[in-house]
Amino acid sequence: MALIVHKYGGTSMGSTERIRNVAKRVAKWHRAGHQMVVVPSAMSGETNRLLGLAKELSPPKQTDELLRELDMLASTGEQVSVGLLAIALQAEGVPAVSFAGWQVPIHTNSAYTKARIESIEDRKVRAELEAGKVVIITGFQGVDDKGHITTLGRGGSDTSAVAVAAAMKAAECLIYTDVDGVYTTDPRVVPEARRLQTVSFEEMLEMASMGSKVLQIRSVEFAGKYKVPLRVLSSFTPWDIAIEEEAKSGTLITFEEDTQMEQAVVSGIAFNRDEAKISVLGVPDKPGIAYNILGAVADANIEVDVIIQNISKDGKTDFSFTVHRNDYARTVDLLKGKVLPSLGTDSIEGDTRICKVSIVGIGMRSHVGIASKMFRALSEEGINIQMISTSEIKTSVVIDEKYMELAVRALHRAFDLDQPTA
Ligand code: ADP
Ligand code: ASP
Ligand code: MG
Repeated sequence: MALIVHKYGGTSMGSTERIRNVAKRVAKWHRAGHQMVVVPSAMSGETNRLLGLAKELSPPKQTDELLRELDMLASTGEQVSVGLLAIALQAEGVPAVSFAGWQVPIHTNSAYTKARIESIEDRKVRAELEAGKVVIITGFQGVDDKGHITTLGRGGSDTSAVAVAAAMKAAECLIYTDVDGVYTTDPRVVPEARRLQTVSFEEMLEMASMGSKVLQIRSVEFAGKYKVPLRVLSSFTPWDIAIEEEAKSGTLITFEEDTQMEQAVVSGIAFNRDEAKISVLGVPDKPGIAYNILGAVADANIEVDVIIQNISKDGKTDFSFTVHRNDYARTVDLLKGKVLPSLGTDSIEGDTRICKVSIVGIGMRSHVGIASKMFRALSEEGINIQMISTSEIKTSVVIDEKYMELAVRALHRAFDLDQPTA
């Protein structure tokens, strides 16, 4: 019998009825003899509700002190969930105990609202498992070295679960959610999307980082680093299906590339509406310009994604890049404040109505013409490409946000993703 970690997302924990179902499912695994650690998210909508309340009361400037309080607040959603799930398990006759992140403890750095897990102590959890209990640990949260509660960024319960599985050397981490696996693209946007039986770790990493919210990117990074067997599956199957059947359902994240040989060149399409584009116009085309602009942005702890620099004309060039929409106003202020005057320009343009659409597949390594096929499919729909970025296994384009769904559907068709693979 094995040590297994289950993670249940917000929708799966969305009502007392659903929590009862989760408890019945976990009880089934426990009764089959497995040592069970369960990591639930806050009930659906709860984290948004809490952060919405904070927004009504927040001061205009985002200080570290404010971010600390946001974490104090947002972490409560998961605390409610673990308490309720432990109670529901006890009602099933299964001994269960819940812990908040700081009780485990799950140590993180102090980057409030986007903290990183540094280490997890397993002693307390193991002792409770040895005593025959199901251990329930809050997703999404940890504690920093000053004793302050931190959170891991939106969708962070996935990362909590995989990190706990890695620390405990669990046999498998099962991510239960409201879809029955990882699809070729978000099935809510393209109903023809197909479930993938397996997806390689590298593809999952690109899909998550390009915006597929089915797994938080850091959870995939953890799974890769510690080789945690990871599966995404539905929490909406009947709770009493046979464990053998359940354990084979959904999508397995694989680490061997050979299993992908039969698969399509492009495995999936991801999209992301969270970015904004900034263009600095008419800067002198000389060494150090990219460093001057992006160095200042990096020093402010703002992540930059797609970057392009145009060819120069009369010794001047235009420079564009994207940042997270939440960082857009801060980035523009920063550049207007001191960076642009030092470069002899004040010409800056921004666009928050963009989106990034990406095709992902390890087959792209060994096939040519994939990017051009993507560009043709977009041009046939009359969609203008504003920026392009590529890596070995993905091509991304930045386009007008209003064409996002059209682009995703067109690409899904163009790469035959709605057809079953051979
Ligand atoms: P949870 O609350 O369980 O963590 P999330 O909402 O975070 O659930 O993630 C599941 C959602 O991810 C699905 O409902 C689906 O709309 C979305 N999604 C985006 N891309 C994909 C994809 N490629 N495959 C499956 N689901 C996807
Ligand atoms: N409750 C958190 C969120 O809504 C974490 C999670 O659900 O994974 O982002
Ligand atoms: Mg999620």
